[in-house]
Amino acid sequence: MAKHNRTNEPIPPNELQRKISGWKCCPDCRDKGIIGTALEQTLAFCNCPAGIEKTYVKGADWPAQEIARVHADAKSLLVAACHALRFSSTGDTLADSNVSKSGGMLQIQLPDWCSGIDESEIQKATELLQWECQIAVAGGWSKHQRSSAAERNPAGPSRPPIGEADVA
Ligand SMILES: [Zn+2]
Repeated sequence: MAKHNRTNEPIPPNELQRKISGWKCCPDCRDKGIIGTALEQTLAFCNCPAGIEKTYVKGADWPAQEIARVHADAKSLLVAACHALRFSSTGDTLADSNVSKSGGMLQIQLPDWCSGIDESEIQKATELLQWECQIAVAGGWSKHQRSSAAERNPAGPSRPPIGEADVA
């Protein structure tokens, strides 16, 4: 069993394990090797051993490429903002949608498989990006179903009202 340096007392294995991991863990990146975010253009490799290892794995250009990818267009910014807010399902849906932003209008065309999207999460993502825009969501499975149902069953009675002749 390991002994404490100073007191020479045995150190319980669990505590020893904790001391080793505590010594190894980087306070800046928590041993992920990456600090900052692409969204805020602060993405970088950490200066610790974990960061140096990540530099070899991903390549020294990776932070710059990732920042460029996220800032390439409105869609990737919006997807990144959703993931930053941990709205993963909304982010994934947007990644499969057509997203365009012009003037004060953000238009989102949902994919056919999509049964709906949480517009309040999109709203929060645009606030994070400091976009002041109207959000227009179109497409998706449920809207398609709703409009077909409306065509099949237009407003008004589906059969003629019961006349006096029928009652008699
Ligand atoms: Zn680090």
